[in-house]
Amino acid sequence: MKKIRTAILGATGTVGQRMIQLLEGHPWFEISSLAASDNSAGKTYGEAAHWQLETAIPQAIAGMTVEQCRPTLDCDFVLSGLPSSIAGQTETDFASAGYPVISNAGSHRMEPDVPLLIPELNPDHLQAIEKQRERLASKGFIVTNPNCSTIGLVIPLAAIHRKFGLDAVHVVTMQALSGAGYPGVASMDAVDNVLPAIGGEEHKLETEPLKILGNWKNDAFEDAEMRISALTHRVNVRDGHLEACSVKVRKETSPEEVESSLAGFTSPIDDLGLPSAPRPVMILEKDADRPQPRLDRDRAKGMAVIVGPVAPCSVLDFKFRILSHNTIRGAAGAAILNAELLYRKELIG
Ligand code: NAP
Repeated sequence: MKKIRTAILGATGTVGQRMIQLLEGHPWFEISSLAASDNSAGKTYGEAAHWQLETAIPQAIAGMTVEQCRPTLDCDFVLSGLPSSIAGQTETDFASAGYPVISNAGSHRMEPDVPLLIPELNPDHLQAIEKQRERLASKGFIVTNPNCSTIGLVIPLAAIHRKFGLDAVHVVTMQALSGAGYPGVASMDAVDNVLPAIGGEEHKLETEPLKILGNWKNDAFEDAEMRISALTHRVNVRDGHLEACSVKVRKETSPEEVESSLAGFTSPIDDLGLPSAPRPVMILEKDADRPQPRLDRDRAKGMAVIVGPVAPCSVLDFKFRILSHNTIRGAAGAAILNAELLYRKELIG
């Protein structure tokens, strides 16, 4: 089959590097353009990128010339790993010029006609694209994936909400250093320390799940009704966000039944054969000392969400821990899975 040509914006960054790694040998997509800041443009990728991953830079990629992030790139769609400060205008420029844009950045996530997509949870939100295309007067559009902690949180929440209805959620995150990009947090701040209140993250965790778990109805998103309170922390771990979560449900149930709802979760994309879709979406751990970032983050190639045992909570109803790989399930892998769903739905390619 003729492969779909993919451009990566922010290709030299933490998320961009993961995209390149995950796209190596992809059955449907091939990288046709790499773009980054003016500092990198004009250099070969091998010269421009400070490569951070354990696998080598794919040979064909190392010799490619990095381009500027202008909407003239030779591709069928764009994956964006740009910082939010740049992503807002740049992604709009690409979408207005006719490119499908699949973004990791926070800039467009909460816009009223932009899907905040997790294929396993809300593929029907892609209906918003039609409205967005009208606004942009373009065949291009933007689809976003959630914040890296939101993704880990909202997948188990969706399973519980579907069965028992969620009333309230309290979550405390312990987020890896790679979540801050490269070079990220200064080592003198990170070593022997925990840094509270990651800029803007608590608000994202408290609002993004409501959009994702809500409905697309009468040409608008309608938020799910529940209260979420979040406390975020940067910890001295390289990859993998751990979250401690308590939930209050609307229907009386037991820890065993909550675990069954997680283990038995099925998704509307199970039969689509998307290459990056993990099976199962969630892995339920029985041991109280799991999940752990170092031991569990790479399970299912970093795409599954690992959930620890469910226990009674004496303040809300139930408590459990969640782990997800922030640069794979929380960023690059999520964006590629979104692209795969869009391809299956004939919205790209
Ligand atoms: P990063 O490591 O700092 O990489 C930033 C990338 O953007 C680099 O390729 C950089 O190119 C490029 N860039 C910076 N300024 C630019 C400009 N003015 N014009 C064009 N390109 C520019 O950041 P990251 O961690 O990969 O994060 C990228 C995005 O993904 C952010 O929006 C972040 O919030 C989101 N995200 C990150 C994670 C994560 O775990 N890291 C998870 C979810 C979402 P140069 O190398 O040329 O400077």
